[in-house]
Amino acid sequence: MKILVTGGAGFIGSHLCERLVAEGHAVWCLDNLCTGSTENLEGLKGNPLFDFILADVADPLTLEVDAVAHLASPASPVDYHRMPVETMMANSMGTYQALEVARKNGARFLLASTSEVYGDPLKVPQDEEYTGNVNPVGPRACYDESKRFAEALTSTYRRLYGLETVILRIFNTYGPRMRREDGRVIPNFIQQALAGEPLTVYGDGSQTRSFCYVDDLVEGICLALHSERAAGEVINLGSDREMTVLDLAHRIKEMLGSDSEIVFLPLPQDDPRRRKPDLARARELLGWEPTTALEEGLRLTAEWFRR
Ligand code: UDP
Repeated sequence: MKILVTGGAGFIGSHLCERLVAEGHAVWCLDNLCTGSTENLEGLKGNPLFDFILADVADPLTLEVDAVAHLASPASPVDYHRMPVETMMANSMGTYQALEVARKNGARFLLASTSEVYGDPLKVPQDEEYTGNVNPVGPRACYDESKRFAEALTSTYRRLYGLETVILRIFNTYGPRMRREDGRVIPNFIQQALAGEPLTVYGDGSQTRSFCYVDDLVEGICLALHSERAAGEVINLGSDREMTVLDLAHRIKEMLGSDSEIVFLPLPQDDPRRRKPDLARARELLGWEPTTALEEGLRLTAEWFRR
């Protein structure tokens, strides 16, 4: 297959490109490098199955493809607060342009959506029928609401044009190639622990997340990209091992043998209190299950940051 991966130079995108090329697919990787990096694509350089397009996904594009995986968007709170308009454009105009490429080719379209569409959820675990609790005018809205718009537009193309679509709601993911300045909790805690600096817990650390290792997630994306049963579906992907942020801080300290102290800083506005996916649909439709233990994933990620 010929596959367009938007955001292919990013953290998840670059792992996906590698995986698709390894499976024998031809990959067009499109990225404007606003958070991605060509360093992430070093392993694919010179590979005849791989091409890089330096472009903004919000601009029109003509390309012959069999599938489109639309991942392009800043995804870390630090990044989307720094680039709120760019984030909204990637998820609105960018989704439109990526959908148009798919529509003109009769190609399958996979949208990388997010657990953020559930906002600060009042239901735990979050299943795909839950419509969420989102503040449309808060600081996270540039991401949450533009991803919700991306889901709405994708669903509209499916209804209107019979486009074969898959919407994946990706929960917290971590692993090698997260940037030093990414700002998300795992890269922050690992770098702080390695440097002997205080681990910065926001709020009292009782808010929860469930962390999925990137290889597991990419496996799920590939299954969804090819699966007949995934067509037309909305599917959560992530880990359902829920833990508090404070517990995570202690685990990382312990794993790295760090004697860093833990400091408590103000909780950002609209920070979701609890996040845990219901994975029944991913299990049933994709036969998918995250398998990397948190300790192993954290070890591999720490190795990356050490290098
Ligand atoms: N967090 C924290 N310290 C940090 C970075 C994040 O306590 O240095 C918290 C953040 O407030 C949130 C959780 O960790 O409750 C996960 O944050 P992250 O930015 O990784 O992703 P989110 O799930 O909020 O998109």
